Amino acid sequence: MVINVYLKEIVANGFKSFADKIDIKLDNKTTCIVGPNGSGKSNVVDAVRWVLGEQSVKSLRGDNLMSDVIFAGSKNRKAFNMASVELIFDNSDHYLNLEYTDISIKRKAYRNGENEYYLNGQKCRLKDILNLMLDTGIGKESFNIISQGEVDKIISNSSLDRRIIIEEVAGVLKYKKRKEEALKKLGRTHDNMNRVQDIIIELEKQVIPLKSQSEKALEYLDNKKKLENLEIALLAYDIYNDTSNLEILKSDFAKVSSLIVDVSSSTTSNDSDLLKKNIMKDKLEDKLNSLNGELLQVVEEVEKLNSEKLLLEEKEKNKENRDRNEERLSVLFEEKERLVKDVSLIDAQISSTKINLDDINVKKSNILKEREEFRSNREYLMSDFSKVDQEIISFSNKKKSILFELESSSFIPKAVLSVLNAKSLSGIYDIIGNVLSIDSKYTKALEIAISASKNFIITEDDESSKSAIRYLKDHNLGRATFFPLSVIKSRRVDGSILRSLENEVGFVGVLSDLVSYDVKYRNIIENQLGTILVADNIDVAVLIAKKINYRYKIVTLDGDVINVGGSLSGGSSSNYSKSSVTLRQELDFVEQKVTALEREKREKQERIDFINASITDLDDKLLNTNRKVMELEERLRSLTSNRSLNNDTLHRVVQEIESIDSVINNDAMLKIEKITQDYYSKVSRRDIIKNDIKSVSSDLSDIKDEIERLSADYKVYNQELRELEKNKNDLELKINRLDDNIDRMLRVLSEEYSMTYERAREAFHLDIEVLEAREKVNLYKSNIKRIGMVNLDSIEEYERVNNRYSFLLKQKGDLESAETSLVEIMDEMDGVIEEEFVKTFNAVNEEFSKVFRELFVGGNAYLKLTDEDNLLTTGIDIVASPPGKKLTSISLLSGGEKTLTAISLLFAILNVRTIPFCLFDEVEAALDEANVDQFGKYLDHYKDKTQFLIITHKKKTMEYANTLYGITMQESGVSKLVSVRLNDHIDSL
Ligand code: ATP
Repeated sequence: MVINVYLKEIVANGFKSFADKIDIKLDNKTTCIVGPNGSGKSNVVDAVRWVLGEQSVKSLRGDNLMSDVIFAGSKNRKAFNMASVELIFDNSDHYLNLEYTDISIKRKAYRNGENEYYLNGQKCRLKDILNLMLDTGIGKESFNIISQGEVDKIISNSSLDRRIIIEEVAGVLKYKKRKEEALKKLGRTHDNMNRVQDIIIELEKQVIPLKSQSEKALEYLDNKKKLENLEIALLAYDIYNDTSNLEILKSDFAKVSSLIVDVSSSTTSNDSDLLKKNIMKDKLEDKLNSLNGELLQVVEEVEKLNSEKLLLEEKEKNKENRDRNEERLSVLFEEKERLVKDVSLIDAQISSTKINLDDINVKKSNILKEREEFRSNREYLMSDFSKVDQEIISFSNKKKSILFELESSSFIPKAVLSVLNAKSLSGIYDIIGNVLSIDSKYTKALEIAISASKNFIITEDDESSKSAIRYLKDHNLGRATFFPLSVIKSRRVDGSILRSLENEVGFVGVLSDLVSYDVKYRNIIENQLGTILVADNIDVAVLIAKKINYRYKIVTLDGDVINVGGSLSGGSSSNYSKSSVTLRQELDFVEQKVTALEREKREKQERIDFINASITDLDDKLLNTNRKVMELEERLRSLTSNRSLNNDTLHRVVQEIESIDSVINNDAMLKIEKITQDYYSKVSRRDIIKNDIKSVSSDLSDIKDEIERLSADYKVYNQELRELEKNKNDLELKINRLDDNIDRMLRVLSEEYSMTYERAREAFHLDIEVLEAREKVNLYKSNIKRIGMVNLDSIEEYERVNNRYSFLLKQKGDLESAETSLVEIMDEMDGVIEEEFVKTFNAVNEEFSKVFRELFVGGNAYLKLTDEDNLLTTGIDIVASPPGKKLTSISLLSGGEKTLTAISLLFAILNVRTIPFCLFDEVEAALDEANVDQFGKYLDHYKDKTQFLIITHKKKTMEYANTLYGITMQESGVSKLVSVRLNDHIDSL
């Protein structure tokens, strides 16, 4: 086979020692690269390997970083940041599986570790490059690139490494790779299957209960749906029927109601008739009663008149009664006169008693009023009294505290007090503050004026002052100021000034003139107060001060001060320390107050006593008045009853007088006549009444008949009404029941099915018999009850879980079949690999023996499988015996023999499989010249088939090259490519 693909160009820039870009242009024949040691020849091999994807830094002879391949700098050049190498292949015969005729593969590396690959200028992955080169014999690992010193490795490598060479030659690497991928896939499939199986087991746990829940829920839904349709239809049907029935019942109800109204109005008119008749009956009965009564009376009167007439006629007959009557009459007249007198006397007594009673009642109410006034006055007084009492207690307490202050002299400094109390001292009088008194309106002025001097001690003379000072010192009691009477001189305001002030409004006077004191202290008091003027207020004081040119101190009643010279002091002075002057004044005031209050208390007590006496007096009066009222009332009662007794007696006497008088004075005959007249008139009246009674009785009997008839009618009406009412109630009950039922059914429709009756009636029709429908509804309901609680979500959940479960089951099946087909594919590939491997092995083996004999000019060699039974894994051993030597262990061969053996194998391979190009770095270095020649000659076998790029120091080899390149390192550290004309240079190299 002739392959036209070949490496056209190697362009390296910044790679290792190629700081200057080198561009090695190649033809498809043999090219040798020559040059001194270390000039960078092997860097070309590294560059080619590198572009083809070499990842091992060691293989590229670097330290440990891929960036080691970037030019590291030299004496004169800086290090590069980037290395790039590009291989350009001529692919005219499309041996490489791409459409392009020129294929450029480029790799770039940066110091930061970044790596980039390019395929015909397009960025690509390393994988893309590896795939392109797979099984082409151009790979980084391929046997066609043999680095310096590596040729022997073919011999010394393990039998398995050698197998890889044969596999590559056989082109089964792609199968192996695919098998590897298939294996990985199988592994992944297996993992997936395990995972799927785990999930299936998990899902199975859910699917089974979910299935039964879902079935139950479906049964429920089925029943519910059937029930829904049927029940709605039935409800619509029932509502419709019930509504029609209701209409009928309502119309019946209306009829009965109107009948009731009719019968009721008849009953009412019958009732009112009955009432009227009864009233009439009552009236007639009343009339009959009254007629009967009148008849009775008239009959009695008739009888009475008859008997009177008989009596008179009898009296007429008996004349002597008359005299007796006259006697009696005269007694009666006397009696009457006496009684009239008595009665009028009693009347007079009654009226006088009433007047007395009224008077006494007026008096009583006055007393009550007066007593009430006293009582309320007493209450006021009592409260005032207790207030006054309270005030007395409070002022008494105040008095006690002032007295205590005065007696204990707590306002006097300790030193001063100790001098005043010292028994051992003589000639000590008192302090200034204690010997003064003043009208209370000047107290504040005085207190301010003597605020500094009030505790100065007045003494007899210097001696007594001195002994007092000693006393203070001796007892360490403090200090005091002494005013000896015999020494201190009086001081007074200048007379002319005083006169000029006399008429000044608001000027009060000189302070020493306003105070009272024992005359013996005059000098001292005038010394202290004789030059102090007193003014009403500060305004006056200011005027006076100006007027007297500030010569004297001026104190106002408020305690403000204008000092000599004009300085002012003043302000609030409630806290100035008091002297005995103020305390005594306060004591005075409090004592006066207590006295006044006690007087007031006494007065109030007297007034209360008086009121109490008055109330007692009034109480006595009231008692007497009440007693009198009772007496008068009693008298009035007895007079009244007495009068009534006398009056009754008088009445009886008058009656008897009238009766006797009528007997005596009337003409008996006239009377008889009158009585006879009366008698007959009464008899006729009696007959009229009798007739009236008859007619009224007959009317009454008629009315009673009528009433009886009306009552019978009333009963009939009532009976009818009761029946109608009952009927109406029954109807009402039925209507209510139907109404409730319809309501209930509408509620069921609305609440359970969210449906209106109209919609139900329109959309749901009963297509079976009502009875059957009812039975079915009951059946569905009892089914739903039996099914009980259901989980409706379980239907969807079951479907979801079951879908996933089924899906996973299917996936498991798919995975299983994928596994099976993967295994099948692998088996298939194994078959291909075995077949191709054996085929290639045999071919290579055959060629190897041939080439060996050719290169060694004799001898024998062959390849041997280490494990013939396992063609997929078997290694390959080399057995070689150069001419004249026995077949022996390969390791015992000399270096040159090993190299030549290895080269034999290389050539054998090239004979079996055409390889586009080979890159050999000093593979023949160990060969002697004759063998190099053999090697060179053998290269000719591959003319037009394989391109060779050979790095060599051997001139013999160079002789076989078509092109020769030199690599030099003229500038230290930087390789340079030079074209070498073959014949000119071979000698010089
Ligand atoms: P020999 O004939 O002895 O095998 P050679 O011509 O094959 O030598 P190489 O091994 O290719 O020489 O080159 C090694 C040279 O490359 C050294 O001088 C080394 O300093 C230089 N080199 C290697 N890596 C870098 C780098 N990253 N930057 C600069 N120079 C580098």
